[in-house]
Amino acid sequence: MMDRLEADAPPPADHDLPYDVVIRNARVFDGRAELPGPRNVGIRGHAIAAVSETPLQGRIEIDGDGGWLMPGLIDTHIHLLDFSVVTDPDSLSDYVDNVIPLTLDRFLQNGITSVKSVGDPTTEILALRARLSAGSLRGPRLFVTGSSITGRDGHPVSTVFGGNRWYAARAVGEVDSAQMMRDLVHHLADQRVDAIKLVSEGACCIPGSPQYVWQNPVFPAAVELVRLPRQILRAGIEAAHERRLRVTVHTVQQDAAIEAVEAGADGLEHGITVEPITDPRLLDMIRDRGVVYTPTLWIKGEMHPTSIPNTRVVMDAGVRIACGSDSFPGRGAFGENTIEEAELLVAAGMSTSQVLVAATSEAARHLDRSDIGTLAPGKSADMILLAGNPVEDISNLRKLRLTILNGEIVVDRR
Ligand SMILES: [Zn+2]
Repeated sequence: MMDRLEADAPPPADHDLPYDVVIRNARVFDGRAELPGPRNVGIRGHAIAAVSETPLQGRIEIDGDGGWLMPGLIDTHIHLLDFSVVTDPDSLSDYVDNVIPLTLDRFLQNGITSVKSVGDPTTEILALRARLSAGSLRGPRLFVTGSSITGRDGHPVSTVFGGNRWYAARAVGEVDSAQMMRDLVHHLADQRVDAIKLVSEGACCIPGSPQYVWQNPVFPAAVELVRLPRQILRAGIEAAHERRLRVTVHTVQQDAAIEAVEAGADGLEHGITVEPITDPRLLDMIRDRGVVYTPTLWIKGEMHPTSIPNTRVVMDAGVRIACGSDSFPGRGAFGENTIEEAELLVAAGMSTSQVLVAATSEAARHLDRSDIGTLAPGKSADMILLAGNPVEDISNLRKLRLTILNGEIVVDRR
């Protein structure tokens, strides 16, 4: 018996190899900066075990061929499900079974290894997250807020989802009081969402709040909205913080952004898009409190061109910026949209390094996950290999050779 076991055993040399995967001879952008000279990266199990100038040996060895290794990209603002198609239980399960797997693969094919859904139907998005982490579905790491929370009849219920109340009831929570807000945040926290998303330009029917006319070229009707009153916004943020969840707030107006930051928001989705930033107090507050600003230029740049110079203003003020595309089904293509967002941020005046930080380590910080977004020993082995230097030209993100997720090669175009 002993002989047989020994005969069946793999060659002893394999046992001695310290790494499962080694990528040799690649330049590295580690999520903060370029490392000088070529490196060899060793992966053991799901983690990065070495980033070395000296050669490493592994069971799988990949020649980096002078290409560029960096952490997998992170998109902190996406919507996975399609409200224009999902209108009842049958269309919902059909969409989840037939469309979602293709969508998730698009992210990996473009080097995006983590995404954050900010406003999809709670039950379904949590089920998808569970399937992804169990490995029964292939795709990027999925972080979820579950439904977004807005005021009664607010955005996006009466605007984007206007014609589809069935979907809106699943993807948005409508509140008219601080107590309802708190209850809903605790309900989402009980279901173990990763963060909370509040919509400031949220409420129609709450008297006394400032008004805002919502307009969108894709939707014919303008909708008059009323901002969520401060006390309701604050109640939501406080409840989320009690549950140790970060809160990101959808804003488009300067006053709304000030209110959100004063109320304790950890992030601003879209930021200030419909008017120029004129209040220096806002910039100081955002920077000093470490609030993360997500410009979503992929959707807002065209619709509200002011959002482009505002991004530059925010960047010059030293505010933390995360890369989130606001991709949703039916416009562009998932994955590619994220790369376009990175290109738009560069076009808005950020340096390529700043944008790469926004799409890796800073996005990870916004997700409250120090194990991703950085290429260093001890971190999760989520990385991409590119044929060109993304610091030199952001469009080199399009020259993908490999995507490695959690130590596993999931895209190989060598
Ligand atoms: Zn969005």
